[in-house]
Amino acid sequence: MKTAVQYEESLRKLDLTVYMFGEKLENVVDNPIIRPSMNAVAKTYEMAARPEFEDIMTATSHLTGKKINRFTHIHQGTGDLVKKTKMGRLMGAHTGCCFQRCVGIDALNALSMTTFEIDEVHGTEYNRRFLEFLRYVQDEDLMCDGAMTDPKGDRSLPPHQQEDPDMYLRVVEEREDGIIVRGAKAHQTGAVNSHEIIVMPTIAMREEDRDYAVSFAVPSDTSGITYIMGRQSCDLRKTEGGNLDQGNLFYGGHEALVVFDNVFVPRERIFMLGEVAFAGHLVERFASYHRQSYACKTGVGDVLIGAAQTIAEYNGAQNASHIKDKIIEMNHLNETMFCGSLACAAEGHKEPSGTFLVNTLLANVCKQNVTRLPYEIARLAQDIAGGLMVTLPSEKDLKSPEVGKWMEKYFKGKAEISTEDRLRILRLIENITLGTAAVGYLTESMHGAGSPQAQRIMISRQVNLKEKQKLAKRLCGVNPE
Ligand code: SF4
Ligand code: FE
Repeated sequence: MKTAVQYEESLRKLDLTVYMFGEKLENVVDNPIIRPSMNAVAKTYEMAARPEFEDIMTATSHLTGKKINRFTHIHQGTGDLVKKTKMGRLMGAHTGCCFQRCVGIDALNALSMTTFEIDEVHGTEYNRRFLEFLRYVQDEDLMCDGAMTDPKGDRSLPPHQQEDPDMYLRVVEEREDGIIVRGAKAHQTGAVNSHEIIVMPTIAMREEDRDYAVSFAVPSDTSGITYIMGRQSCDLRKTEGGNLDQGNLFYGGHEALVVFDNVFVPRERIFMLGEVAFAGHLVERFASYHRQSYACKTGVGDVLIGAAQTIAEYNGAQNASHIKDKIIEMNHLNETMFCGSLACAAEGHKEPSGTFLVNTLLANVCKQNVTRLPYEIARLAQDIAGGLMVTLPSEKDLKSPEVGKWMEKYFKGKAEISTEDRLRILRLIENITLGTAAVGYLTESMHGAGSPQAQRIMISRQVNLKEKQKLAKRLCGVNPE
């Protein structure tokens, strides 16, 4: 396994084409806006090396028998799925943000099943290619971006009917030694912190969409790939030089638009090519795994609840009954999300390839809760924090020889707590509920792994309504047939 330091060094060797604020970045790793997101991924390496987290953060490769980082593991039982849920919460709690590495493990597990099943039907050799890629990822302990979401253009039209045919990533040329692809993947979590980009289709497809039913993996610095960094609310605070106003001093997440401008993919790295019937299969499996992964939000929730309790104490309000009740409610909501992620893991099953898949109905219920409950937890945190969280002057004012003394005096809470500590906790709550980390904690909870309606469609497909009707009819004497 790589250490956190080796991970950072490996990123320095990549030759990525990254744009931010209209300029090409010469040094991605040390960029102050990107760096906290690199730190969060590095934490997945650091935690795996710590003996107290070994059971959760590492696993034994089913390919090589070697100890590997769990973020590169293929689930061999429901125990592995449960540990993945716990790993998400642990990492969320230690970083207070999106640590970006789950999309990779979810893509790997989904492909381990879909490649196997395509081969069964079409006699192809995708699973062999995939397993070779997987072995490389495990041996080198790589960070993978699971790239699914296409820009999608006109949502009422399938890929092949779009006015601009590149609105879904597609094969533009097939050669003896591989394919040329063009298109883009949007909202790519952790993209510029990744060694490999694993591309998958984003929707179920029909025969006419053949060129779009493509899955492959390429090194992140492959020629023709350009990254355009997404902005986050309050992102420039990271460049101001202090460390109070950014709230979370160490960690953050990032998303990017990843453009594939005629990128060559060697044949050995192709995992699906035109098998349209399996595009939906891959999407549903990836989505189910990633809906389970949202246990990460319960870890961030732990941080937010801790911050809310702390500011209540700093304000001298912790014994008010309504504050106590709000903290209870925050915990109740947070644990409700955890229950869903744990339940879909514990109720997982073995697929024909040997990989264990979560219970997809429960994974969708888990994610549906995640589209709502963090918003309520955030609302309660803001309620407890009070208005100062958003009217607070800057760290530079606090340090100012002229007005700093007034901030020290008038922003004081309990006598024994320093004003600066009180302001730090407020900035952390601001960071998670309004600032850079709110991307991950709120809007990403809404749309990541599919927007709320996507889960409702899956829930409606997977519940057996007829059976429920029979149960009701039988009990009251109505003929169940
Ligand atoms: Fe992982 Fe959560 Fe970030 Fe998604 S939002 S990549 S599940 S930490
Ligand atoms: Fe996500």
